[in-house]
Amino acid sequence: MKLYNTMSGKEENFAQKTGPVRMYVCGITPYSACHLGHAMSAITFDVLRRYLEFSGFEVIHVQNFTDIDDKIIDRALKNQKGYREIVEPLINEYLYDMDSLNVKRAHIYPLASEAIPKMIQVIQKLIDKESAYYSNGDVYFKVASHKYYGALSRRSLSNMIAGARVKISVDKTHPMDFALWKAAKPGEPFWDSPWGPGRPGWHIECTALCLSHLGEKIDIHGGGQDLVFPHHENEIAQSEAYTGKRPFSRFWLHNGLLNLGTDKMSKSIGNLIGVSEAIDKFGADELRLYFLSSHYRSPLSYSEELITPMKRALERLRNCLRIESPAIGQELDITEFEDRFTEAMNEDLNTPKAVASLFDLVHAINRGKEAGKAIGEAQSRLRILGEVLGFTFREVRNEMIPSLESLKQFSSQINTLLKSEGHLELSIWFDANTPMDDHNRIIDNLLLVRSDLRKLKSFDMADKIRVQLGEIGINLEDTPNKTSWRFST
Ligand SMILES: [Zn+2]
Repeated sequence: MKLYNTMSGKEENFAQKTGPVRMYVCGITPYSACHLGHAMSAITFDVLRRYLEFSGFEVIHVQNFTDIDDKIIDRALKNQKGYREIVEPLINEYLYDMDSLNVKRAHIYPLASEAIPKMIQVIQKLIDKESAYYSNGDVYFKVASHKYYGALSRRSLSNMIAGARVKISVDKTHPMDFALWKAAKPGEPFWDSPWGPGRPGWHIECTALCLSHLGEKIDIHGGGQDLVFPHHENEIAQSEAYTGKRPFSRFWLHNGLLNLGTDKMSKSIGNLIGVSEAIDKFGADELRLYFLSSHYRSPLSYSEELITPMKRALERLRNCLRIESPAIGQELDITEFEDRFTEAMNEDLNTPKAVASLFDLVHAINRGKEAGKAIGEAQSRLRILGEVLGFTFREVRNEMIPSLESLKQFSSQINTLLKSEGHLELSIWFDANTPMDDHNRIIDNLLLVRSDLRKLKSFDMADKIRVQLGEIGINLEDTPNKTSWRFST
């Protein structure tokens, strides 16, 4: 399996000799609701993890929450709240949104605020090693002390100074030196330290959390491309200076960013689309398919016109999984499609190609069914491959899907009819066994009622159910053994 390593600028073979793959992904700063840019990054690393696991690796996935940050402190001060009151509901909302997107939860979600003692220990050792220095209540990392500073972002210190408007600070010996510890300002949360009351800088957090949860050398470090510099460059410098070991991470993976128009989607610009808003509008699988239809390292432009066709595409997949397989017949051979899928994923997670192989497999299954082949095994392989990409295949809100309200109304009409036609037992059974908040259960139970009506030779009523379901967008397909259903498209 090849993965593009930002450090080398090349695709490299990913192998793991012993033990689990230790993967650290930079998480969010919870100061406002998460948006689709976060969802895209989370889905990228979710697919990486799912594919590693599918390929036989064990993965330990750690993702932090930056719960100490200038913006959080600002919001807390403005709203006269403690910083925890700001971050806790937002962390819960993030986890809820990611669950809705079927993103596997990380094994550990550490908080920056929980790792202050570790950060203090790391900073103290960096001072002892003369990689950091105290200045006026702050502590700075000495970038010139790290021989490889700039290797990840391919910049030299002299270019960085020329290219950036660097504020010259009297407290720093070099303009690119960055804060490991900041002296407390009035009204801010603070922690005691050997350098006086204060709080950690952002970068040191991820070093301390990696060291605490994954060890001195990790296998994969991930994040958005906007984190390459300075965040990840600084993380490498601190971590390697502290441990004396290189490389801190064997692989550095970065996802491209989501744009709205020509701008990156970001809180500071304010051009955000909320995750739950988008899930309600398009569906979780549909959003995922939209993201995976583009390679994870490419930038992607948010466009409703491009997401809308995903509904139809997903419906093709779902319908294919619902087809009844002929009981006899030669099993459809799908090796070619499975091979294409893994080849694509082995090419630095080429999800557009992997997705294309799934749709070709759908086509082959549909044709196989027409040719009288057994397709059950092919369908279950399709589901497994789809799940590697994180699809749930669950039905979602969609304008082609009848509303729950119309289904409920329809069910009560049928129930009244059952009673008036003397099918009291069926009516009682349907009432007792049908949760009215579940599309699939309502439809499945209506089909069971219809099948019993046919056995009782009430063909008129059975037919009525078929016709009226068709009118609200649910088509039935009768085979000798079973009736299956699909949403009309
Ligand atoms: Zn980080």
